[in-house]
Amino acid sequence: MAKYIFVTGGVVSSLGKGLTSAALGCLLEARGLKVGIQKLDPYINVDPGTMSPYEHGEVYVTDDGAETDLDLGHYERFTNTPLNKLSNFTTGSIYDSVIRKEREGGYLGKTVQVVPHITDAIKACVLKMAEQDLDVVITEIGGTVGDIESLPFLEAIRQFGLEQGRDRVMYMHLTLLPYLRAIGEVKTKPTQHSVGKLREIGILPDVLVYRTEVSVDESVRKKISLFCNIPLDAVFEEKDVDHSIYELPLVLQRQGVDDLVLKRLQISPKKESDLSAWENLVERIITQKCEDVTIGIVGKYIELHDAYKSIYEALDHAGIDSGAKVSLKKIEAEEVERDGAEKFLRDVDAVLVPGGFGSRGIEGMISAAQYARENAIPYFGICLGLQIAVIEFARNKCRMNDANSTEFDKSCQVPVIDLMAEQQDVTDKGGTMRLGAYPCRIKKGTLAFDCYGEEDISERHRHRWELNNKYLEVLEANGMVPSGINPESNLVEIVEVPEHPWYMGVQFHPEFKSKPIKPHGVFNNFVKAALARKRNTKNPNEQSAPSSAVTENGE
Ligand code: GLN
Repeated sequence: MAKYIFVTGGVVSSLGKGLTSAALGCLLEARGLKVGIQKLDPYINVDPGTMSPYEHGEVYVTDDGAETDLDLGHYERFTNTPLNKLSNFTTGSIYDSVIRKEREGGYLGKTVQVVPHITDAIKACVLKMAEQDLDVVITEIGGTVGDIESLPFLEAIRQFGLEQGRDRVMYMHLTLLPYLRAIGEVKTKPTQHSVGKLREIGILPDVLVYRTEVSVDESVRKKISLFCNIPLDAVFEEKDVDHSIYELPLVLQRQGVDDLVLKRLQISPKKESDLSAWENLVERIITQKCEDVTIGIVGKYIELHDAYKSIYEALDHAGIDSGAKVSLKKIEAEEVERDGAEKFLRDVDAVLVPGGFGSRGIEGMISAAQYARENAIPYFGICLGLQIAVIEFARNKCRMNDANSTEFDKSCQVPVIDLMAEQQDVTDKGGTMRLGAYPCRIKKGTLAFDCYGEEDISERHRHRWELNNKYLEVLEANGMVPSGINPESNLVEIVEVPEHPWYMGVQFHPEFKSKPIKPHGVFNNFVKAALARKRNTKNPNEQSAPSSAVTENGE
């Protein structure tokens, strides 16, 4: 029978509950346990699929096509846990199911209320997760303790402990110790208040993890223990990591978090902990001599780092693997539209155009793709980035000046990117895209085959528009190769241009499957191409020119 760990957060948001839950999952897997991780989000959207990336960062997609919170990306990067539709629920999805049941007469005339009906539905989400033959279910509660929105979730997990038995359920609370620079002290008061808020609801945390900028001494830990009523050996420190978020499992393990959790939940581990893969990774991150490489990301949600979270992580993984320090030059597509690609791209070693929706900035991305193609700069287009590459190629190489996507110009004369028949009259905006994993067959002897090393692959999708096969012949005649095809629908999944050193567009999102200890082949190959480009370009320093775009380190 599964055991349960609930992770809550207090004091401020964005504390890294997702990372902590993921790192905990990693530690428990290292003891041979089958772990499931899920997130319960307090917002009312049924899923984050309809939210702007500016609101909520990237939408992470699972194999079974669930559009989920970006924290699930951390869960997959740190663990081997199976993520699916049971891994993310929201207030919206829970109310939706309760209201549907009420409309069907499922409550037999009863008054439907937050307690017990909504709280029952919340508990059912956790129990459903456990049905997947798991030893431990980790459930992260989104939001911050004290918010109005998260109250039903906290009430539900309190009831859960009562019903399942306190020896099968534990609560982990993550807080912040603010550091007051002027007096050189960290403060525990907000943590005390946050734990007090949880106690008011009836939850006494079993474990407290505090985030801090500076390491604190034993007296502070003792104070937290005493004032929060949590045993000293269950108070753990999560100081800002020195080099990489991937140090986190090691940081927690050194303090014995996994031992304490196993003891508290009376779980016998199946093996001694083996984190050697993570130790090697971190060792490499810290000691490896790296060559700098700059990748220009030309996108439309560029100001918000979280909007392309998995892409940045995947580039980071590939950098670690290839001995490259990947710097991101984040370029707003609209600025490229205004000032031209040269200004922004003359000093980059490669160009990446990520996914996106709607027409803003599209012409800027198209000129970035043209600049990369004509100047032999490695180009990697992801989802929208493939569509951009195809439009650019059709216009400038195949001389079809009116080529476009019907997403940007409904009545365009040369719709090289178009809706599939079944998407033509979709009006519901939620969950109606081509979502989740689809197979792809790769042609041997292509760049794609070099990247994957196998013919049959599966990758995750999230889009409505497709390459219009009507134009495939003319694209091919001009040198574009459809190197990956969906064997069932015949849709083009990968395009490349062999006469270019590295030019590839993929209709799917490979970034979702990259892990630090198993970097993705396409990202690896792309970063290597950027390194090669850098080495081959004479006097790269002379080319640097000031631009208004932000350059920052990969992490
Ligand atoms: N807007 C495009 C489509 O719906 C691309 C989507 C994406 O990049 N995820 O097909």
